[in-house]
Amino acid sequence: MSENYDSQDMRSLFTEYLRAQDSSFHLREEQIFLAEKINHTMGHGGNLLAEAGTGIGKSFSYLVPALLYANAGYKVIIVTATINLQHQLVDYDIPRMKQLLKLQVPVTVLKGKRNYLCKRRADLFFSQEQDLLFKTEGMKEIYDWTQNSSTGDKEELSKRLDIPQALWNDIATDEYTCGGSICAKRRLEGCFYLEQRRKAREVGVVITNYSILAYHLRMQSAKSSDSKSSSAKSSDSKSSDSSDSSLLPEDAIYILDEAHRLPEIIRNGLVTTLSEQECKRVHDLFLGKKGFLTQERKQQGEFKDVALKAIDLYTTKFADVMEQFSSIQKTIQEWTLSESQKTKTKKKQEKINFNTLLRDQETGNRLLDDFFVLSTNIEMLRGFLRELQGSFKDKQNLSTQIGNVHQWWEQQQHIALGFSQDETSSKELRWCEYGEVTKSVQFATVQLQVDDVLEEHFFNRVPVSICTSATMTVFQKFEYWKKRAGLRTTSEELLLPSPFLYKERVLMAIPRDAPMPTEGEEKYIEYLKSMLPKTIRATSGRCLVLCTSNSMVRALGEHLKKELENEESRVLMQDGRYSSTSLGRKFREDVQSVLVATSSFWEGFDAPGETMRMLVITRIPFTSPEDFFFKEEAAIIEKNGENLFRTLSLPLAELRLRQGFGRLMRSSEDGGVVLITDKRIIEKSYGTILRRALPKCKECFDTTKNVQEEILQHIRHL
Ligand code: SF4
Repeated sequence: MSENYDSQDMRSLFTEYLRAQDSSFHLREEQIFLAEKINHTMGHGGNLLAEAGTGIGKSFSYLVPALLYANAGYKVIIVTATINLQHQLVDYDIPRMKQLLKLQVPVTVLKGKRNYLCKRRADLFFSQEQDLLFKTEGMKEIYDWTQNSSTGDKEELSKRLDIPQALWNDIATDEYTCGGSICAKRRLEGCFYLEQRRKAREVGVVITNYSILAYHLRMQSAKSSDSKSSSAKSSDSKSSDSSDSSLLPEDAIYILDEAHRLPEIIRNGLVTTLSEQECKRVHDLFLGKKGFLTQERKQQGEFKDVALKAIDLYTTKFADVMEQFSSIQKTIQEWTLSESQKTKTKKKQEKINFNTLLRDQETGNRLLDDFFVLSTNIEMLRGFLRELQGSFKDKQNLSTQIGNVHQWWEQQQHIALGFSQDETSSKELRWCEYGEVTKSVQFATVQLQVDDVLEEHFFNRVPVSICTSATMTVFQKFEYWKKRAGLRTTSEELLLPSPFLYKERVLMAIPRDAPMPTEGEEKYIEYLKSMLPKTIRATSGRCLVLCTSNSMVRALGEHLKKELENEESRVLMQDGRYSSTSLGRKFREDVQSVLVATSSFWEGFDAPGETMRMLVITRIPFTSPEDFFFKEEAAIIEKNGENLFRTLSLPLAELRLRQGFGRLMRSSEDGGVVLITDKRIIEKSYGTILRRALPKCKECFDTTKNVQEEILQHIRHL
């Protein structure tokens, strides 16, 4: 890849050209420096890692060279972790930069297939459910949208009205029912999903997300194990749209933003599951009341004898598969019951490591046998599907759809076979998730660490990758991230601190007389209940309280409601009644509101301006030792004789703490207070390590009373 613009050009482009185009364009030295480095990597190839603190404007640093390279004919793929960043890029940053640079580079967004309407399924659905159009509120509008939309993108519809998930499942693109190239709709009117794929292949800049990258990696892994495997796969089980395997081309410039989430999202995206419910769903799409074969039978009259016989055999075998699931479910249920009697606890839903079940000899033997029988039954079922497919050779559409279903069962058989192996033979993490209420069980499997997959199928293959985020380093080094992401060599590593004036605008307040959170949850919550209302009054609401558990959200949220709601501070809490998007919007709109939240609000949440003047970090965000993946990783670390706290607990806490801390200052005009009520951060040696990872602020580490006074003063002078 040749370099089109050298670093000198990049500097003058920012300082002279862009500034001349728009005098409001705010120049920052770190931004220009980062753009130069990114431009250089794009020209010379390699992997650049850049931790760029909030406020540097890293999106412009990569967009300027990215648009120039795309304009010169290169393919650029930008991957994000959150929908917020995707919107920011597509709706604001890219149009602005294209306008300033006077470039006509086409840009498109690539999403998962289930985000798109399938015209064929929608027509079928509404022709069968005419009554619904008049009886159900909002249905007419949904129908009109399916007829008139030019994108078929669910998000376009969701902006106007709520669409029930069950309805969307009936009309969305689904790989098992898709007729692919044979679909008449696709030929006559065009298909939204395939049109989006075509665009993504042709345009210069593609914006996508890590789930699509995970899907791509899954396809690549499957392809390479297929080619390694001596047993050839049957050609009839190929996907209806094999072009999916080349969705993300290798010969492209990759920009991974919010890259701190890369390993975690890729692992989640590579999980494969097996469940009775999903088997039933696919069976229904095929042979249920609205299934594609049932519909065909209705329209075409009776099938040939050979097809009818295959359907009968398939149906009988499907019943056997379901029975086998019941047997497995019964074994798990019995084991769970006996465990909860032993421990005298009952959990609503939990992940259970499959090896734990195997260690109970009787349960283990039953499960291994049952899974072996299940996989044999699925194999026989696949045989009948092949016969059925053969009987529709003259109907390509049906043949393709049956091929898709066959391929799905093939994957399920593979998973079932994996669960029929004992502990020593299985290299993957296997677990089951059992719901006490739903009485349903799901089996899942994944590689605990995805570094090998990322190394082999991504970093070793793409010529240029720029990985960036505001928080990638741990103990000021990239090693932790690199190890998990499978990036063994880098061409350059940059650590650029935020240019915001933290020392002038932010007060870090820590009450020395607070109880240690480890002294007991009740005592600690009582302390927070007694000190938070008065402290929040000092900032007139305008406060985000970050908790580490749902119970803490409820306890503090309810208390603050009682205390503050008569004083014009509306208290919002993340108790499951509203989505995070809607809570975030309410918090931003109501300037004096207080939001008590956990999980998703620790990162990616933006509330710039007057609406947030105080951020409360109630506890150092250590991952719960009960977290399933944490527990599994911890077991391996301890087995290797490594220090669990330093290798895993502390790095995870540092990354999360820095993300949480970053919620306060979203622009150079922001400022206020970060109140950390967990005094371990000043009293423990690891607290010093964590504090060192945070931006340098004004500090007040004093009694609660003095801290409250200092907060008042700081806010007054802000
Ligand atoms: S090609 Fe597939 S997704 Fe597209 S309209 Fe036809 S069936 Fe639906």
